[in-house]
Amino acid sequence: MTELIYKMLFAALVIAMNFIRLYYQKRYKTTHAVTEAEIAPKREKQMVLLMFFALAVPGMMWLFTGWLSFGQFAAPDGIRIAGFVVGAYSMWWFYRIHRTLGDNWSPILEIRVEHTLIISGTYKRVRHPMYSDMLLWLVSFTLVTANWFYALTLSTGLAIMLIIRIPDEERLMLDRFGEQYRDYMKRTKRLIPYIF
Ligand code: SAH
Repeated sequence: MTELIYKMLFAALVIAMNFIRLYYQKRYKTTHAVTEAEIAPKREKQMVLLMFFALAVPGMMWLFTGWLSFGQFAAPDGIRIAGFVVGAYSMWWFYRIHRTLGDNWSPILEIRVEHTLIISGTYKRVRHPMYSDMLLWLVSFTLVTANWFYALTLSTGLAIMLIIRIPDEERLMLDRFGEQYRDYMKRTKRLIPYIF
């Protein structure tokens, strides 16, 4: 019975995430790119696939099948609820970050028509708040599902994505915004304010 409650909490987070994403994805389709994934188009598509298999597929398996039951670990109710609270907070940020980035957002790396450099709001202290937010998902989903296998697929997927994508993305931004981005880099961290 309690497991069903955690499934509902996890589903609520997934629905919130997709709701936000789908809205911006729809907006994205009405504007255009200047440089379409110019750095590594094939790799960018692989990144989207990677996240699909690391995040969505095992998440749905946990939710709808018993196939991942071997990965369950014992976690007190309080910890799992705390995981949901972290998740709810991260989805609120996910929305705010998308709103701040507006039409500059894209699912793959590219420069949009009328791209502007955002350096304030959610982008004031870190250059990749959306990726930082995904680290909160990792914490949240690990605790809510209490499943180490999901934690493993998600952390592996995120690590590969961040290690490959952040340098590519910063190169793209430096090419486009030059000195302005270099200054911004001096004032900010990548993912964790004041630390990294
Ligand atoms: N890495 C960022 C944005 C992810 S969306 C984050 O984690 O919040 C990816 C797109 O955002 C890229 O195609 C890039 O062109 C754009 N982008 C990244 N940083 C930006 C910024 N500071 N201002 C405007 N666009 C940015």
